[in-house]
Amino acid sequence: MTSRPTPRTPPVLANLVAGQPVFSPETFASVSPSTGEVLAQVALSTPEQVDAAVAAARAAQPAWAALPDAERAAALNRVADLLKESAALLADWIAREQGKPLGGVGPDQVPGARFEAWACEGWTRATAALSLGTEVVFEDETRRDELQRLPHGVVAAIAPWNWPLMIAIWQIVPALRTGNTVVIKPSEHTPAGTLEMVRLISAALPPGVLNTVSGAGPVGARLVAHPQVDKVLFTGSGPTGERIAAQAAARLMPVTLELGGNDAAIVLPDADPDTIAPDLFWGAFLNMGQTCACIKRLYVPDSLHDAIVERLRALAEALPMGDPLAEGTAMGPVQNRMQLDKIGRLLRLAREAGGTVVCGGEPQPGAGLFHPLTIVTGLKDGDALVDEEQFGPVLPVIRYRDGDLDAAVASANRLDLGLGASVWGRDAATLRAVAERLEAGTVWINQHGRVHPMVPFGGHKRSGTGVEFGLEGLRALTRTRVISLRK
Ligand code: NAD
Repeated sequence: MTSRPTPRTPPVLANLVAGQPVFSPETFASVSPSTGEVLAQVALSTPEQVDAAVAAARAAQPAWAALPDAERAAALNRVADLLKESAALLADWIAREQGKPLGGVGPDQVPGARFEAWACEGWTRATAALSLGTEVVFEDETRRDELQRLPHGVVAAIAPWNWPLMIAIWQIVPALRTGNTVVIKPSEHTPAGTLEMVRLISAALPPGVLNTVSGAGPVGARLVAHPQVDKVLFTGSGPTGERIAAQAAARLMPVTLELGGNDAAIVLPDADPDTIAPDLFWGAFLNMGQTCACIKRLYVPDSLHDAIVERLRALAEALPMGDPLAEGTAMGPVQNRMQLDKIGRLLRLAREAGGTVVCGGEPQPGAGLFHPLTIVTGLKDGDALVDEEQFGPVLPVIRYRDGDLDAAVASANRLDLGLGASVWGRDAATLRAVAERLEAGTVWINQHGRVHPMVPFGGHKRSGTGVEFGLEGLRALTRTRVISLRK
């Protein structure tokens, strides 16, 4: 590990309401997962401040929605300019607070904090360029029917801790693009990066269009329960999603839920281990496995098992883990203690179930939440590490018999989650045939987890409801009005 600069006094970060910083009587700490140091004190929103944030969003919404479509797009392009200008600063926050190493910029680099900050700009521009417009859905000699897409009004966005900039952008930008205003609550584990980003980009937006509240579950619950909130975008765990859906159901409020996954990847017997290993590796270990659509169960045929495990082990052991701010670090800490404890529990159960830990296996001692990349073989369906979403750097590799692709497909589909899945191999017809049988919102072929601003993304089964991204994602942020004209 490299030496660190002298710790600075943690700043006190305010929320943003109606374009103004809002401090609170109480604060909570943003803590570095790599050192345990307090990075910032964050204003803990009071119930009245949550109400004020919703009121500000409500007050700003009619004028924002009334802007010509091109002006809203232009404002979002100014947001993109500000994201570009502040990318280095935001990457620094994310490396320190979320724990992903700075890494490189662009799609071919180790995808770390600089990648996350860099991707926000492009995502914003791509979404700004989309437009829903009005459609004539029917016309004959007697009538003409036009379908309009109107904003819901005030969108409450509730975010997790794994991609604090990117997921906030995924929620904020499409909501604003369609004429909604937003109150966003970042995760209590990673508030600072998101608050800093919102503070910086809000300079391109009218006051009240984008607001923040901060705190843990009770602050989120207060926001979702607010009668002036019209739509909820939630990304996080299944149990919280269910609670939010129940709350929203009481007032028939629409929700988009992006929840947990336990994505299976199936390697076919004709795959070339050398070709696929690097992409399988990053599919599983991107952001230390703390990504909703990571490979969380890897099914390999007996004939390729050892070759694939060996290649993944070599990659896992080659990558330097350590200080996220040091150039050259490829892997950082796990983001929070709960997550580290969960991995520990699942590994203990995996050992008890007869699993073999091929590499990694024990957290590093010390204040940082470092856990080496870990690969476990010898497990089967039903074992906890296979069936539960680990959301961390621990990958179970499960064998299937070469001739028994049906068994691999059945394994992939047997859980009640269905966010992503992937199939890896050479024969295009077999790849496609297997892909068509997998129960997931996205099925990738020879890749995993690659999302794109034009491509709708969402889960099946208990991985969520609704989609984000692309035109489909924009539609989910609107309600329809038909103007039906008698001729
Ligand atoms: P979490 O459910 O614990 O927290 C998510 C957010 O919800 C936080 O901001 C939290 O403060 C808030 N919250 C908690 N209780 C609430 C309540 N009662 N009402 C309103 N808000 C409340 O999830 P997490 O641990 O932050 O995130 C990890 C989970 O998120 C994993 O399961 C992961 O798979 C999932 N995830 C899914 C996607 C996706 O796109 N499908 C993306 C990223 C993460």
